[in-house]
Amino acid sequence: MPPKKKFRSIPRKKNKFKGNRYQKKTKKIETEQSRKEALPETSGDSSGDEEHVETEKAASFKNLPASVRKMKAESSDSSKESNDDELEHVNGFRFIDIAILAAVFESLLCPSCKQGHVVFDEDKESKMGLASLLILKCTTRKCSFYKSFYTSAKANNSKAFEVNRRAVLATRNIGVGHQGLAKFACVMNMLPPMNENAYRDHVQAVRDAAERTAKKSMSEAADKLKEFYEPDEEGVYNIAVSGDGTWRKRGFSSSFGVVTVLSTITGKALDCEIMSKECGECKLRRGKEGTEEFDEWWEQHQHKCHANFAGSSGSMDSAGMLAIFERSVQQHNTRYVEFLGDGDSKAHNLLIQENVYGEIDISKLECVGHVQKRLGSRLRSLKKRQGTTRLADGKAIGGKGRLTDKRIDKLQVYYGKAIRQNTHDIDCMQNAVMAIWHHSKSTDENPDHDLCPPGEQSWCGFQRDISKGTADYVHESPIPEAVADAIYPTFEALSDESLLSRCLHGGTQNQNEAINGLIWQRATKETHASTPTVELATFLAVGHFNDGSKTLLTVLEALGIDPGYHCRKACKKLDHDRIRHSRRKSQEESKKRRRQLRNYKKGFTETLEAREGPSYEAGAF
Ligand SMILES: [Zn+2]
Ligand SMILES: [Zn+2]
Ligand SMILES: [Zn+2]
Repeated sequence: MPPKKKFRSIPRKKNKFKGNRYQKKTKKIETEQSRKEALPETSGDSSGDEEHVETEKAASFKNLPASVRKMKAESSDSSKESNDDELEHVNGFRFIDIAILAAVFESLLCPSCKQGHVVFDEDKESKMGLASLLILKCTTRKCSFYKSFYTSAKANNSKAFEVNRRAVLATRNIGVGHQGLAKFACVMNMLPPMNENAYRDHVQAVRDAAERTAKKSMSEAADKLKEFYEPDEEGVYNIAVSGDGTWRKRGFSSSFGVVTVLSTITGKALDCEIMSKECGECKLRRGKEGTEEFDEWWEQHQHKCHANFAGSSGSMDSAGMLAIFERSVQQHNTRYVEFLGDGDSKAHNLLIQENVYGEIDISKLECVGHVQKRLGSRLRSLKKRQGTTRLADGKAIGGKGRLTDKRIDKLQVYYGKAIRQNTHDIDCMQNAVMAIWHHSKSTDENPDHDLCPPGEQSWCGFQRDISKGTADYVHESPIPEAVADAIYPTFEALSDESLLSRCLHGGTQNQNEAINGLIWQRATKETHASTPTVELATFLAVGHFNDGSKTLLTVLEALGIDPGYHCRKACKKLDHDRIRHSRRKSQEESKKRRRQLRNYKKGFTETLEAREGPSYEAGAF
């Protein structure tokens, strides 16, 4: 009997399962550690200045790295510990070679007649997706021993098998659809999974569970955020948000879009709107409009039609944003009165035009990252426009020692820093921007450092000399006067009060870009998608963005499935690794390294030190 032999050839399991003697202990330590990781020491909990809508607490909070901020904003109440009983049980799914299992059973005596052996079979006709119906019978003819069982339990209050629900959630969470699951099963020498229709039904169920999870997460995020604000007379919280729209396909043909709104303080998602120009069911009935049959169908269908937008893709963004703003009071008891949007103000204009909050204005904030880039792009286009035209000193704007690309990059970096380091005061910010221009054109004969910050810690070497009583500073490569005159209007424009006042929040849209990435990872742009797929992707992304991998536990629970020991443990590990990774990433040291690397890639031969000093604060530039 070959299978028997096969079984014998398997090395005997060395360790018996002893019920995770060690895991309980290590688990406790791990939780404590991860909690420490997640909650860094609070930087001087200053008492909130109640004059500002946004408290000081909020300002210091904003300085933390994004993922830490999100974790920190999470309620400090310990997350539900996994059931201790569970540790005592072997549970979850394994890949089992069915021949091995068959061999194991064959080595057993029949429990009924105690003479025959148990043979094992699979009823392929009765398989339900990934759940197989296995049968045990006795080899003795007269014996009636017969047992059949499915390889998966069913979800609570549902006819669906747990394994199928899990497989659909798992595949959609990594951006793989039915095709992907089928291909996976193929290589694994498994029976094919459920058919496409069944997969679609599972997607719908998982989508509903993910929606409940995401909505709950966003409500909690909004409640938590209120600690940073004071309510107005009506008891409504007026808050600042960063909003962005993202498209499934580039260009005009995009039929799906997602608009998200995040808090500028905690960085958590507060609301999302999925926009769709197409509906699968409507598509099937195209051309039948006007018939009685169609009218009858439409009567029912209109309430659940997936298409919720008919305009151009370009205005999908604004329409989604409007929907989100219009429901903010009812949904979270908040008004989004400060709006950090991308460069084009289409959405903001629509919000103003629609008078969403009546008397209360919605002010537009600028993304510091985008504004910073304006200096570079304006100087580059100035240089291009000027070309070889001679300036007042008879030379062109470019060339050695003049407005080189390297110099432009440098000025852009300083401009960004001038904004970021002066988010407390508009005058200081304006001064800091103009200081760059004055400082850069200073020469030994003609120093112009009045706007540079004084003191021994100043980034300006000239000012450091003054406070230390030394005279070490040398003006190494000042911008020639004619060039300085040519770029002055750019500095003037970019130190404009109304522009810079929209940068006082100091925030960027990087977080929006991050959540957009999470969404399309789960509904890849390359494969076909339907509305439920995009919705599921969005809800999973929002949950993950706000709460990390443990959002999957909540989705499973919402599906009537106990996530299980291994799932909980893996989620915890994924989140732990994510925080550790982002902390390391955010450390100043590695930031510097990345900048250096970027510069090298650009072909800069000078080291960072030579380029801008050890750092902006202490270096000499
Ligand atoms: Zn028997
Ligand atoms: Zn429809
Ligand atoms: Zn200076």
